[in-house]
Amino acid sequence: MSQLTQKSSPLNILQEVFGYPVFRGAQAEIVDHVSANGDALVLMPTGGGKSLCYQIPAIARHRAGQGVTVVVSPLIALMHDQVGALEEAGVHAAFLNSTLSGEQAAHVEREMMSGRLVMLYAAPERISNPRFLAQMDSLHERGLLSLFAIDEAHCVSQWGHDFRSDYLALSLLHERYPEVPRIALTATADDLTRADIIERLRLEEAQIFISSFDRPNIRYAIVEKDKPREQLLRFIRDEHEDDAGIVYCQSRKKVEETAAWLEGEGLKALPYHAGLDVAVRQRHQDRFLREDSVVMVATIAFGMGIDKPDVRFVAHLDLPKNIESYYQETGRAGRDGAPAEAWMAYGLADVVNQRRMIDESPAGEEFKKGQRGKLDALLALAEATDCRRVRLLGYFGEASTACGNCDNCLNPPATWDGTDASRKLLSCIYRFHQNGGQRFGAGHLIDVLRGKVTDKVTQYGHQTLSTWAVGADLPEQQWRAVLRQLIALGHVVAEGEYTTLALADSARAVLKGEVQLLLRVPTVAPKKGKLARGGSSSSKPGGAGRSAAPIELDEEAQARFDQLKAWRAEVAKEH
Ligand code: ADP
Ligand code: MG
Ligand code: ZN
Repeated sequence: MSQLTQKSSPLNILQEVFGYPVFRGAQAEIVDHVSANGDALVLMPTGGGKSLCYQIPAIARHRAGQGVTVVVSPLIALMHDQVGALEEAGVHAAFLNSTLSGEQAAHVEREMMSGRLVMLYAAPERISNPRFLAQMDSLHERGLLSLFAIDEAHCVSQWGHDFRSDYLALSLLHERYPEVPRIALTATADDLTRADIIERLRLEEAQIFISSFDRPNIRYAIVEKDKPREQLLRFIRDEHEDDAGIVYCQSRKKVEETAAWLEGEGLKALPYHAGLDVAVRQRHQDRFLREDSVVMVATIAFGMGIDKPDVRFVAHLDLPKNIESYYQETGRAGRDGAPAEAWMAYGLADVVNQRRMIDESPAGEEFKKGQRGKLDALLALAEATDCRRVRLLGYFGEASTACGNCDNCLNPPATWDGTDASRKLLSCIYRFHQNGGQRFGAGHLIDVLRGKVTDKVTQYGHQTLSTWAVGADLPEQQWRAVLRQLIALGHVVAEGEYTTLALADSARAVLKGEVQLLLRVPTVAPKKGKLARGGSSSSKPGGAGRSAAPIELDEEAQARFDQLKAWRAEVAKEH
């Protein structure tokens, strides 16, 4: 390898080209390693500064005569932004993707083949394109293929949250150009995903650089869902008046409804999802980036590659799929280091439906098991009575002490001894099972516990069960909380197309009285009737007139399930 001249020292490039005085965290170490031909896997939180980890080696290596760095990036918008910024900084960079005309693409190819180009950004599908491979072969033969950077590397893993099958082809880079160094970067990788990335990208020899995932300026808060929109509005008004923020919803419909509603309440709220016209999306994104205090209400289609430093809050109106998604999405708050907030509202229906989505997916059993485990970890976070940050960092394998800044640290949640209530609930599920082997959903279970006579209760003769009305002392909302926590703790399994409840093996110890369960005191007042809003006309409390299907799904759960289905379809389309 050629000597790096003083002019090409990484620090010099950082200062001259990018205008930053010093490296952040592990950047210097990573840049040195990659500049000197080492493979690297970089795990750094969103906003941590991953781009410079490959851009600076790319520039240094180019100056040393090693030619072009190929950057694999999953999103066109991301490529445009990065290339624009590089060109502005005087670094010759370009992208090849479907937005270019034939003439433009030919020009970029000429720049690449001459070796003048420092960085070429390409979508993953291009890598396995025969024409592109031939071009890389030619560069390689002439010693002008310098480095591969694989951004958002978690896209290669099915365990990650943005799986892209095109990423699988990237293993060929190692096979075809074994001595060209590679750097893979991601903000999201728990142990499982990490191992998967290493295996699929053939990074066994790579040095792994793990930065702390802590985002100390972000305060985490998770509240129980009651009237989520009103709760959200209160949160914004109380703490984020005039701030820019992102509100994530699962379905396009909910995005539009929520944005319209917030706008009606006087906020500058804009919708964003992949179903909107490209021009509209672009306009909303531009306004979010340029104007003050815009609240973007969006599906997960929005966010990757958006580098707005002063997003003051990220709110979730629906439960994300797992902790990695949650962390990635909330990580978009407070990139400037100033205080920011991650706020989420969640309820029983979220839990039940997420599990049902997994059960119903066509994936293999092993995959589903992994997904269930990941969901359980998120539920445990949501139900935690101790520090959220400790839990989050623990999930990424990092030990820490109570942060003093999250909702649980600031207001330690009251707990109550829910052992007795839990035993009643578990016995009731057991009795259902004994009494004809039927399984039922949450609504019916709670009706039986509370001694509410409904058509279904009569139909199945459930007034005769020994657990009939044993829980009349607790309000419905509290029973929902008990059930949610039992699901989160893994004692109850919600499964199947109609989301019925079954006992897990661990329930036995609770039933026997061997385990004491301290549960969160619900913070939400008991509801008058379910579905006060957005309701179908048949949703009268009390359950009369519901379909007499043998297994029930309560209306709220059904509504959310439909949304989830739409959302999953959308995600499938977008990736
Ligand atoms: P990531 O890809 O890890 O999410 P980026 O590479 O987009 O993060 O960087 C996030 C922000 O931090 C950008 O605005 C970038 O310019 C800035 N940044 C990165 N490294 C440094 C540094 N050493 N000094 C100052 N700012 C930096
Ligand atoms: Mg990045
Ligand atoms: Zn804390």
